[in-house]
Parts: sequence; C-alpha cells; structure tokens
Amino acid sequence: MAEKPAEKPAEKPFVPFFKRTVIEPVTHEIKTLAVVGAGTMGHGIAQLIACAGLTVRLTDVDQAVLDQAVQQATASVEKLVAKGQLEGQALENLKQYLSTTTDLAAAVAGTDLVIEAVPEDMALKQAVFRQLDQHCLPQTILASNTSALSIDELAGVVSNRQRVLGLHFFNPVALMPLVEIIAGLTTPPELLDAVMDFAEGLGKTPVVAKNVPGFIVNRVARNFYGEALRMLEENVASVEVLDAIMRETAGFKMGPFELMDLIGIDVNYAVTQSVYEASFHEGRFKPHPLQRTMVENGLLGRKTGAGFYHYDG
Ligand code: NAD
Repeated sequence: MAEKPAEKPAEKPFVPFFKRTVIEPVTHEIKTLAVVGAGTMGHGIAQLIACAGLTVRLTDVDQAVLDQAVQQATASVEKLVAKGQLEGQALENLKQYLSTTTDLAAAVAGTDLVIEAVPEDMALKQAVFRQLDQHCLPQTILASNTSALSIDELAGVVSNRQRVLGLHFFNPVALMPLVEIIAGLTTPPELLDAVMDFAEGLGKTPVVAKNVPGFIVNRVARNFYGEALRMLEENVASVEVLDAIMRETAGFKMGPFELMDLIGIDVNYAVTQSVYEASFHEGRFKPHPLQRTMVENGLLGRKTGAGFYHYDG
C-alpha cells in the first residue's frame, strides 16, 4: 500500500511582529484633551485647543507655572484678537474650555488625547508616559510634543504601544502652521489619519514624519544652528551680523541666534544632544561647547532675560 504523503503544513501568512501585539480599540473622536507640562509649548498648545472650542485640561507639577500659563495664554489671545488674527469668540472659548490642575490623574481622566510637553529628557518623559498608562482610558491616544526623542522609546513603556505617536508643534504654537505627526513602529495608519484630521481642525498644516532622529525640521535645523555657532567661534562675523544676514537678505524669519534665544538655549542644546546620540554620534550633529557653557551659566535666552542677546522687561 502506497504511503500517504505527509500533509504539507499550512503556510502561515507573514505578519510583521508589531502587528501581532494586542490592539485595544482607539478612540478617534477627539473632544476632550489634556496637556502635560505648561511651559513654553504646553501653554501654547492648550491655548490653541481651547480657542478651537475643545475641552483641555492643562497640568504641571508647579501651580505658579499654571497660573502664569493662563495669564500668558489670555494675553496672547487678546493680542491676536486685537490684530484681527483671531475672532473675539476665541477669548470666550479660552475662558470656557481651558482649566488647570496640578493633579495629573484628574487632568487625564476620561480624555481622548493627551499631549505630553514636559522637558526634553527621555527618563522624565518615560516616567510621565508610565503615569499616563496608569491613569488614562485604554483607548486614549498618547502623544508627545518631543522635538527629537524617539517615539518608539516612549511607546515601549506603555501597555498598548499602538496608541502612541509624536505630535510636534512649533514655537510659537499660535502662529506656526506646521505640525509634525510622528509615526512609531507600532503606530497604526488610522491613528495617524485621525490625528491629521484633528491638527487640520486646529487650522494647522500637519505632515507625517518617520521616527528618525530630529524628524524633519529639527534634523535640517541642526546645521542651521551648528554652523552659526562654528562661524561665531571662528570669528567669521558677530551674532548680530550673522542674524541680520540670514533675516534681511536670506529671507529667514529669524537668524540662528535670535531663534536659539526664542526656543531656549537649554531646549535647543537638549535637542542637539538627543539627535547626536540617536544618530550614533554623527559628527554633523555634534553639539557646540558654547551651548553647554551657556546652559551651565543660566544664559537660556529670552526666558531668563539673557542669551545671545539681552532682554529688558
Ligand atoms: P519648558 O521647560 O518651557 O516647560 C516644561 C514644563 O513641564 C515646565 O513647566 C515643568 O514644570 C513641567 N514639568 C516637568 N516635569 C513635569 C511632570 N512630571 N509633570 C507635569 N509637568 C512637568 O519646556 P518647553 O520648551 O515647553 O518644551 C516642552 C517639550 O516641547 C520638549 O520636549 C521640547 O523639546 C518640545 N519643544 C520645544 C520647543 C520650544 O521652542 N521650546 C519647540 C517645539 C518642541
């Protein structure tokens, strides 16, 4: 009797490893939000969202920062309304939809989307993401406003990493149209689409970027700052002259030194360091020693009254 041929094992379809993780349903309707960190970016993001008529709870570890954030947001919206760049309703919306608390758990409870905007430090951001994992609904979308840190490294600390992405606003949030939406390895396309719609609804121009060091803008910008710092060191020209050339004749809105002062020397230095680390120490992204010494000395730019320039009042 002929032997029965061995049954061929059924071929398993190829599924990338990250598609095999458990998928919790993700809410795509974004109506209630929280912003964690009420500094330069956090207060601007919360202001934008509240003005658009969406509920936003702003949280920070420091009550004084929250009070200042509300004052700054109010002053900013009043100015934009006076200039005709926002409708009068925006001020009403800000008062109605923006609230603040130092209690992170209360701020993020029941939200559809949380945007983290704490300082550019991976350990700190991971600690915040662990807290979000604990206190948010399983379907809450978790976004980071990181300038250059890895979205995958943040996704790695939460139980459902498919709800994590980057949502990178630019400074000043009210005026800058671009928003980078950064896809981690496990971010599903539907989530990117939902957040794209959300950003467009805020009047922004979103682009999807890969999770590469510096994403798009900060990768290109590293050399804008780096070369300017090297030229300063080589006495090619002064801070004022280099800025004026880039602004007046090259068509940039701001020169590299003015822009570093606006961003914060500490923030800019941290971003440069993280791009340098994440790119396995590519020489072209190496931070400049002057960035470090300015940070050590507390010359952080506009926010401390002195950086490359002095600021009165
Ligand atoms: P910032 O230092 O002005 O503000 C950070 C705030 O986070 C502070 O008010 C601090 O009290 C708060 N904070 C710290 N730990 C916290 C915690 N555990 N929980 C809640 N709040 C906490 O920083 P920033 O300039 O607003 O930057 C925030 C993020 O946005 C960073 O990742 C930065 O790289 C990014 N970013 C900054 C700019 C810019 O121009 N400054 C532009 C784009 C993106």
